Amino acid sequence: MESKKIAIAGAGPAGGFSAYLLAKAGMDVRVFEEHGTIGEPVACTGVITGDVLSQRLQLPKELIVNRIAKARIIAPNKEFVEVKLKNDIIIDRAGLDRHISELAKDAGAKFFANHTFETFEDGNNGGSGSEKETQIGKSPIGPIRSKANWETRKVMVAVKDKIKNETKTVEANYLVGADGPISAVAKSAGLFGNRQFYVGLQATIPVENDNIIDFYPSEEGIAWVVPENEKIARVGIAAKKEASQYFKRFLTAVAGKDYEKKIAGRQAGPIPLYDPRLKSKTKDGRVLLVGDAATMVKAPTLGGINQSLIGAEAVAEAITKNADYEKLWKKRMGMDLYLSLLMRKAMERFSNEDYNRLVETFAREKNKAILESYDRDQPSRFALKLLMREPKLLLFAKKAWF
Ligand SMILES: Cc1cc2nc3c(=O)[nH]c(=O)nc-3n(C[C@H](O)[C@H](O)[C@H](O)COP(=O)(O)OP(=O)(O)OC[C@H]3O[C@@H](n4cnc5c(N)ncnc54)[C@H](O)[C@@H]3O)c2cc1C
Repeated sequence: MESKKIAIAGAGPAGGFSAYLLAKAGMDVRVFEEHGTIGEPVACTGVITGDVLSQRLQLPKELIVNRIAKARIIAPNKEFVEVKLKNDIIIDRAGLDRHISELAKDAGAKFFANHTFETFEDGNNGGSGSEKETQIGKSPIGPIRSKANWETRKVMVAVKDKIKNETKTVEANYLVGADGPISAVAKSAGLFGNRQFYVGLQATIPVENDNIIDFYPSEEGIAWVVPENEKIARVGIAAKKEASQYFKRFLTAVAGKDYEKKIAGRQAGPIPLYDPRLKSKTKDGRVLLVGDAATMVKAPTLGGINQSLIGAEAVAEAITKNADYEKLWKKRMGMDLYLSLLMRKAMERFSNEDYNRLVETFAREKNKAILESYDRDQPSRFALKLLMREPKLLLFAKKAWF
């Protein structure tokens, strides 16, 4: 039997890992990446909980830039709580994307760099992506559950070869949109919605440090200093508005007025807020969004690497087993993404005074112990425990709803 043809837009962690799993399962996989070099440009700090990653990937040692044992959460009034981290690593993010793509290539996936996804059409009745918007939400992969059916279902995917400056059409049974926060696949499928973004701005810059990650939550957003080693750090901010002013102020505070001269590298990009209102992530069963393209980002910390890998597993299972993609990824992380969104909503309403009180609350020994057991990727395991121990936190939680 001929294998299913899968076209994937984007070779980040979501696209690369989907490609790896699907190729390993015997699918005919093609990945189209708009940039010439996989993993670049980098728009990421590369902080990751090693446990989630290591359940899925053997990370070569050379991709681990640093290991961090502690973090400080520093309130606007400069009081802080210091917490032990379990297994946090700082990775070479471009290296991670390349490593995953090599695994996928070894499993048989074909990668096409300098190829931009443009649009797609329904290959069965000739309708264009945008013309079929009324069908969205009706059929998350369901209608093609019948085993015989997928072979006759097609999407015609238009990709532009940037070097030859020509657009070609690729036929596939499924199109996976792993093309990041501004997903052109989501737009073509009418699934972009009214999503909201944080702007992430970061610089790699010399900063003497004690190898502890510093987080600075405040009314303005969140700022961080993440050490690569004792002399160099990834210093950044994420904010909904006035990000560049905030970034300049933060860099001045951390690296001095002459920070511009010291910057060794810059990384920037939009970070989507998880949007549970995107009712269906698939269109008529043949288009699946994953990773940032599907807003699978933990809202409080704005991290999404692990979520991209978890989403890729759901993509692979949905396609190989003709299963319901929505159900699969929601079962794996829907509740965690939702809870983290509520936390972020609450935090957006916090005043600096609220942050001061929150840090003070967490500094209490019993709460600190719970904070240390917090799994950033699975807040559902943690939120209730914390609220029961410290009912005062309900005052903060209320801000998520009111
Ligand atoms: C400043 C900043 C710091 C961050 N820090 C962290 C962190 O410390 N930890 C963490 O877990 N997460 C972090 N994130 C979030 C994390 O980077 C993303 O969640 C993660 O990269 C999502 O992976 P992805 O594969 O879905 O998308 P991406 O990594 O964005 O990959 C999408 C790929 O698609 C390609 N592409 C885009 N459009 C097209 C197109 N039309 N055709 C073909 N290819 C296309 C892009 O070039 C890219 O290679 C950070 C984000 C920012 C902006």
